[in-house]
Amino acid sequence: MKVHEYQAKEILSKGGIPVPKGMVAKTPEEAAAVAKELGGRSVVKAQVHAGGRGKAGGIKIVSTPDEAATAAKELIGTKLVTFQTGPEGVPIRSVLVEEALEVDRELYVGMVIDGAAQGVVVMVSEAGGMDIEEVAEETPERIIRIPIDPVLGLIPYQGRKVAYGLNMTADQIRPVSSMMSKLYDVFLDNDCSLVEINPLVVTKDGRVLAADAKLNIDDDAMFRHRNLQELHDPEQEDELEAEAGKYGISYVKLDGDVGCMVNGAGLAMATMDVTFAAGTMPANFLDVGGGADEEKVAQALKIILSDHNVSKVLINIFGGILRCDVVARGALMAAEAANVKMPPMVVRMLGTNAEEGRKLLEESDLNVTLVGDLGQAAQAIKALG
Ligand code: GDP
Ligand code: MN
Repeated sequence: MKVHEYQAKEILSKGGIPVPKGMVAKTPEEAAAVAKELGGRSVVKAQVHAGGRGKAGGIKIVSTPDEAATAAKELIGTKLVTFQTGPEGVPIRSVLVEEALEVDRELYVGMVIDGAAQGVVVMVSEAGGMDIEEVAEETPERIIRIPIDPVLGLIPYQGRKVAYGLNMTADQIRPVSSMMSKLYDVFLDNDCSLVEINPLVVTKDGRVLAADAKLNIDDDAMFRHRNLQELHDPEQEDELEAEAGKYGISYVKLDGDVGCMVNGAGLAMATMDVTFAAGTMPANFLDVGGGADEEKVAQALKIILSDHNVSKVLINIFGGILRCDVVARGALMAAEAANVKMPPMVVRMLGTNAEEGRKLLEESDLNVTLVGDLGQAAQAIKALG
């Protein structure tokens, strides 16, 4: 789960990491009031679940409360398109109004779960700011990577290594290295998959604060962070993915035209490979899950069909706890509810109640090709063109 910058900063601040003074505003009037409180000069920042805002016009530096109101008015209610969003952009519903910092240096600090390192890796760079992607691409040696031992945690010398690596002055070494320990605590306490401060700003008067913050929480750990659930903002997500999430269906939209409905993440991956092998492209990844009932299956198919690129559907079910007849009934239910013509479907069903499921589909007036294995499924998909 992603959260907004202002929410991430609240979490960081509670964890003892310095952030600029400021407050979120939902209207131009609120923005002006916050700017006034801050003494006029401030930064107005679009709150969206995407980076690259600076380059996309989503960050405005203003000198008066009036200008803050104008900036907020220009941003709120519009959509921001950055290199991290699709061409349709994401809606701006609020802005963060913050004290403008006198920036001396912009540093990068990140912590991420790294699959290869099998744990958390700390990444820092002196070359922070808006071009960090280029730095990573072209001069990766400018990024220091420090793997954290999950048992020992972040040890003090690693914090000092970061501080020296970032070329901090003598009196900044201690605060920065203790900031790293605090950041690691925030990471663990909130079951994060990513925490990123870019830039970590050193001001002209020597303060070090998180001028931007990004924090992702592992979805599978949300059950033990009920208090964070309210930070969820489905409006920032892909509409179909958010809809799927409501029903506990794992769905990721892709660019092809073969809608895939599968049970089990591994089988769903294999099914996508099969569509590739057939010379076609999957329209989505979808795992309907083990304990699905008819309604959930119908919902999954409805989501697949809401994608206008879908011209055919591949259903691949290995019935275990999820019975094949339940899948068939769910498909029929979705077909009945659909107000569009159902696309042709290729169905492979094996396992619990497979015969019953196949019979239900065969006897329906859906355009269904029943196949026995994945090779035949590929052939049948190919034959549909
Ligand atoms: P992002 O582009 O979405 O990552 O948004 P950031 O919050 O990182 O802001 C982009 C850039 O705006 C930063 O790299 C800074 O250069 C600049 N910026 C942000 N806040 C301030 C501030 O308080 N003062 C000044 N002078 N620049 C700021
Ligand atoms: Mn940033």
